[in-house]
Amino acid sequence: MFKALVVEKDEESGKTSAAVAEIAEADLPAGEVLVAVDYSTVNYKDGLCIGPGGGLVRTYPHVPGIDFAGTVEASDDARYKPGDKVVLTGWRVGENRWGGYAQKARVPADYLVPLPEGLSTRAAMAVGTAGLTAMLAVMALEDHGLTPGDGPVLVTGAAGGVGSVAVAILAKLGHEVAAVTGRPEQAEYLTGLGATEIVAREELTEVTRKPLEGERWAGCVDAVAGAMLGRVLKQMKYGTSVAAIGLAGGAAIEGALITPFILRGVNLLGIDSVMQPYDNRVRAWSRIAQDLPMDKLEAMITPATLADLPGLGRDILKGQVKGRVVVDVN
Ligand code: NDP
Repeated sequence: MFKALVVEKDEESGKTSAAVAEIAEADLPAGEVLVAVDYSTVNYKDGLCIGPGGGLVRTYPHVPGIDFAGTVEASDDARYKPGDKVVLTGWRVGENRWGGYAQKARVPADYLVPLPEGLSTRAAMAVGTAGLTAMLAVMALEDHGLTPGDGPVLVTGAAGGVGSVAVAILAKLGHEVAAVTGRPEQAEYLTGLGATEIVAREELTEVTRKPLEGERWAGCVDAVAGAMLGRVLKQMKYGTSVAAIGLAGGAAIEGALITPFILRGVNLLGIDSVMQPYDNRVRAWSRIAQDLPMDKLEAMITPATLADLPGLGRDILKGQVKGRVVVDVN
């Protein structure tokens, strides 16, 4: 038996409730690798899965946690042996199968990535899906020509998980970083991560019908979409790219016009971390170990335990979590 955060659903009322409970190893889903989990984390999707599920969770009782890092305890796959340090993000773990909010997890070997040299399981969860996505976004911008010296790179939703890691990586790589936040009290935190300019959220949320605005940004990591992405696209410099990773401000791109694409050759790059192929995951984790300063990562961390998760799940859905939560499941 071991500890896990278990979400139950009352069939009559349809309401869900989450609490720490004991579960048996025999109840874990099938998979080739059994992992003793050290740490997990809290992403926006976890907020949904700890609560009513947002359509992501189909069967109860459920153990959420879309990310975990830990040590292989047993493996039926030649790629992993007991003692190996591994990290898992995505593949709908914690949504349609039990995830990382437990002291043990059993998963298909294909879902795991060996932890790169120099990254602890705690640091890996300070990164988590949010940080992996930030790195994938930076890699996509680089693949489309972004180079230090091109001008300011905008990060929206900057004080959130993806935004915080994107700011730190871009600054370390030598980019000027403009951070958009709706929380002015987080300005010092963001400049500490390397932002050189703070942009107030209100500056970018008015929907306009202008075809284009003045060229400001050499690249953008956008976690917000909504009206903000509509405005940002019109402010991109000629031939630059926006990596769209999230929808914290709404699923539509409000006020968007075709003009930035056909008059300025702007690219909108979609970033998905969940089904990302293995080779690119390995490349991204190795870039994280190389390009994410560990002191900056440390500054993003709020420590937590399994018992804190119901409250944290509610907070992240309200956009009230700063940086990255690291959950010690033991
Ligand atoms: P967080 O909640 O940590 O960060 C989101 C940030 O967006 C907030 O901190 C806030 O930043 C800003 N924000 C929130 N609400 C609004 C609003 N209404 N208008 C404008 N800005 C807002 O979440 P994550 O960083 O973990 O995830 C961000 C988004 O990315 C989510 O939509 C998530 O679902 C998505 N995502 C996508 C992935 C992928 O594979 N593509 C992977 C991971 C996440 P501030 O206070 O600084 O303004």
